[in-house]
Amino acid sequence: MRPSPHGVPCARCGMLESPEWRRGEAGIRDLCNACGLKYYREKKQREKVARKAATSSSSAPVADAYGPGSWDEHHRD
Ligand SMILES: [Zn+2]
Repeated sequence: MRPSPHGVPCARCGMLESPEWRRGEAGIRDLCNACGLKYYREKKQREKVARKAATSSSSAPVADAYGPGSWDEHHRD
């Protein structure tokens, strides 16, 4: 366990020691490991929702797994 690099407790749960300290909304490492991971997940989710909202009317993302020269081309005889 390591003490907070800023000498302040976790901004969310008030923990004073954590195996890892993570950057939060304040831009400093004031989140403990658990809260930091949770924060990242929430942030990612928010971005995902925002992206979805922004692109909802445009073309759907195409699954581009089968580009030119896909296995199907060489599978004919
Ligand atoms: Zn915490």
